[in-house]
Amino acid sequence: MPVAKKIQQFMKNASWIREMFEAGSRLREEVGPENVFDFSLGNPDLEPPPEFKAVFKELAAEETPGVHGYMPNAGLPEVRAAVADYISTEFELNFTGEDIVITVGAGGALNIALKTILDEGDEVIVPKPFFVEYTFYADNHNGVLITADTNPDFTLNLDNIEAAMTEKTRAVLINSPNNPTGVVYPEEDIRSLSALLEKASARVGRPVFLISDEPYRKLVYDDVEVPSVFDHYKHVLCITSYSKDLSMAGERIGFLAVHPDVPKKELLMGGLILNNRILGYVNAPAIVQRAIARLQGCCVDIDIYQRRRDIFVKGLREIGYDLILPQGAFYLFPRSPLEDDVKFTREMQKENILIVPGSGFGKPGHFRLTFCVGEDVIKNALPGFKKVWDKVV
Ligand code: PLP
Repeated sequence: MPVAKKIQQFMKNASWIREMFEAGSRLREEVGPENVFDFSLGNPDLEPPPEFKAVFKELAAEETPGVHGYMPNAGLPEVRAAVADYISTEFELNFTGEDIVITVGAGGALNIALKTILDEGDEVIVPKPFFVEYTFYADNHNGVLITADTNPDFTLNLDNIEAAMTEKTRAVLINSPNNPTGVVYPEEDIRSLSALLEKASARVGRPVFLISDEPYRKLVYDDVEVPSVFDHYKHVLCITSYSKDLSMAGERIGFLAVHPDVPKKELLMGGLILNNRILGYVNAPAIVQRAIARLQGCCVDIDIYQRRRDIFVKGLREIGYDLILPQGAFYLFPRSPLEDDVKFTREMQKENILIVPGSGFGKPGHFRLTFCVGEDVIKNALPGFKKVWDKVV
């Protein structure tokens, strides 16, 4: 066998994305791309904002010797400083470049965070449903992902998180705005979770970290605000990326910020920076770092996403689907009209509609739709949603 047993098992567990990709390619060939309604991928379809192209053109023409060489593993000092400046205003806290590591997307940041804090067998609690890669990321660093159910409206259930805590708990990993539900955790939830983590840290005699994965922070609707995770707790690793809000997922750039007043900061930062190096990232891509330093605060037009969300939610509710209105990100997470969400997914495929079953996010009985597609695709797919509803309900 060319592949380790564990990875063979992971390949089976992670098969949904591949299956959707293959189904999409097959269907596009069979019935033509215009007749396939693919709501399975969280790949932003909007082009990056115009500033993005202008900045990249300028940077591509840069003649200064050495600009494409290696750099300090934490990132270019001026880029760390630019990020620190921006988030100091955003979070109303004084960050400096020393609190920032520039990373290869949020995925890279999550991996350096987990490698830095996890000892063998340490546990990371995640509210479910959750972004499926977390399971693999925790395993990459000898950790174990433990899930805790959220409330029926997908907000945090603090009792479930507390019940999941053990001596081995090292972190609680939250993602708000959430993939796949679109929920933004309210201030009160963040405050209560912070108090719980303070208590747990004292009980186990080492910090239990709050890892906050926030790549959708800027993609929020109806003037919703995403509360700061820095307000009530210091052992915070806040992670984000430019994949979604600048529509540059393929360029692989993000950052990790620690609380400016976290105890033993030098040691913590030293671990994070070393791991950025030894995980093989070495540093985030140089030209993209320079670009994001100049694009702080820039974002795609979120009105486009909000309009799509509204059309999709209204259309599905009129048919009878039960779903909450997402406050952020670009996903819907309706209840599956069939208890068996995988069977429902297959029924949808017969109508050339691609969705991901909730089982793929640890939450059977639901399904995920992305609205990274044009309004016309959403509108043209609604009759298919109705047809399947009428068939199965
Ligand atoms: N975290 C969540 C919740 C995501 O949905 C994604 C991507 O879809 C990521 C992290 C990874 O983002 P990046 O492209 O920045 O690595």
